[in-house]
Order: sequence, then C-alpha cells, then structure tokens
Amino acid sequence: MKIGFIGLGNMGAPMVRNLLKAGHAVSAFDVNPAAMGALVADGANAAASPAAAVADAEYVITMLPAAAHVHAVLTADDGVLASVASGVTIIDSSTIDPASVKTFAALAAARGNAFVDAPVSGGTGGAAAGTLTFMVGGSALQYDRVKPVLSAMGKNIVHCGDTGTGQVAKICNNLVLGIAMAGVAEAMSLGEALGIDPHVLAKIMNTSTARCWSSDTYNPFPGVIETAPSSRGYAGGFGTDLMLKDLGLATDAAKSVHQPAFMGALAQQLYQAMSSRGDGRLDFSAVIKLYRGDR
Ligand code: NAD
Repeated sequence: MKIGFIGLGNMGAPMVRNLLKAGHAVSAFDVNPAAMGALVADGANAAASPAAAVADAEYVITMLPAAAHVHAVLTADDGVLASVASGVTIIDSSTIDPASVKTFAALAAARGNAFVDAPVSGGTGGAAAGTLTFMVGGSALQYDRVKPVLSAMGKNIVHCGDTGTGQVAKICNNLVLGIAMAGVAEAMSLGEALGIDPHVLAKIMNTSTARCWSSDTYNPFPGVIETAPSSRGYAGGFGTDLMLKDLGLATDAAKSVHQPAFMGALAQQLYQAMSSRGDGRLDFSAVIKLYRGDR
C-alpha cells in the first residue's frame, strides 16, 4: 500500500518503520526536517508538505500532538484535504477529544473521505515493537478497511464503535494511567522516606494488589526497571505535557456529560505543576519529582 504519514515524533517514527518493514511505501512529513531525515535512511520518502505526502496515497495516517495540529494538517492550503484522492481513508492515531473527531470526520466526508479515529496505547516501546493497541472508532466497513494497515503497527486492533468512540476508550484509559502513575510515585517516595529499599518495595507491589503497568513496567523510581524512562533521566517516553493534555481531555469530556472526575482533576493539577516548573518535556513518570525533588 502507499501510505501518507504525517507526524514523525516519539510514536510516529517507529510506527513508520514498522509500516516500511511490512512492505508498505511511506511518504512522510513532519514540520521538523530532522525527524524526516532519520526515516529516509530506513526507506521512507520525505515529502515537502502534508499535501505532497498524501498526493498518491491509498491511506493517510496522522500522529500529531493535539487536535489543533490535526486541524492544521487537514485544512491548510498545503494540507491533506487539499490533495488527497476521494475515497482514501484518513486514520488519525493522535489522542484528541471525541468532539473534534466528529468535526474532522464531517470535513473529510465533504471531500469524499472517511476519517477514522484510531488512537493507540502501548507507549514508545509498543510502537517500536509493533505491538500497539489501536482503539478504532468508525463503521464496521471502515474498521475492516483500516485493520490490515494498522496490523503492521499493532497486535490488538479493537473496534470500539462509531466515530469518536476510539478516543473515548483512549481518554478513559489515560485517565486511569495518569492517576495510577501518581499513586505509584507517591507510594514509592513514601517507602523510600520510611527507609525501605525501593527495589524490595517494587517487588512486593508487583506481586501484590498494587501491581499495575506504572509499577511493574514503567516504575517512576530510577533504577527499579532498567528499560523505563525513569532509568534514563525521564528522557523519551510519554511526555508530561501530553499526559496533562489527556487529563484535560478527560475532565472536559466529563464536564460535557455532567460526570464527576475527582481523581482525574487532582492528577491533572500534579502534571500541571510539573509542566509549570519546566518539566513538561520529561516523561510523565517524572511526576515523582514532586515527592523526591530532583534526586
Ligand atoms: P511527539 O511530540 O513526540 O511527536 C509529534 C510530532 O508531530 C513531532 O515530530 C512534531 O514535529 C510533529 N508535528 C507537530 N505539528 C505538526 C504539523 N503541523 N505538521 C507536521 N508535523 C507536525 O508526540 P508523540 O509522543 O509521538 O505523540 C503523538 C500523539 O500520540 C499524541 O497525541 C499523544 O498524546 C499520543 N500518544 C503518545 C504516546 C507516547 O507514549 N508518546 C502513547 C500513546 C499515544
């Protein structure tokens, strides 16, 4: 397949590599030329604009920070909708709000294109390994169309329901993740302050009822999990500002249906505090710094 891919950051770049490995031809664009250069060596074509990336594409995939970026990439003069062929499906794997998905789907439909929300979970490790979970919102027909392409980048391709429900699933997942990470950070820091070896504490938690992804795979305490961002100065991974964005999406969505989000609102303030002190680009597990300082 010929795929136009826009957004080559921490997630997009490894996703493109897996598309190339699966034999797809990828024409890629990012506002950061360095991000494109790195992929050319792996066989991608570096396009000069989103319009150029998708001009002869059979599928379009966007992997961008937030809804404003998706809107710009779709609607700019040199954007996707300016040149994509009618009938081509546009898959957005960014995490954005369900209401924006519906707006973008309507814009795409007016040009004869389907717009499918397919946000992911699995982090940068899952993106590199090709084991992401895709949460797909769209008709059954649209799901059948996108599944083969998404399968090159993920191992669980789940049909969540109509347009926008992929983002509902993603926002709810990350609501739990943001809260759970803060909880693990709080407990690990308390344990340290009370004198238990963090490795021992993590081992107990990971075989007890506190076990979760934030404790056994992505533990925020440095050195406990060698492959976690906490063991490399919180570089790479899932940025604090992106988690802050996702908790904002969750609390806004909660407000729109008059649903309380007590824990989500509190967690949002923790990541806001991290961002305000200049740590927004660090992995979100760096929230433990609010408890441990910069040790
Ligand atoms: P990132 O910031 O690393 O990458 C985003 C890329 O988009 C950057 O390379 C940036 O230059 C590019 N970009 C921004 N505006 C652009 C434009 N107008 N045109 C073209 N390129 C543009 O972000 P990421 O970590 O790759 O995350 C992307 C999305 O995936 C976000 O919505 C995030 O919430 C979601 N997500 C991230 C993770 C993770 O672990 N990093 C996990 C699941 C979901």
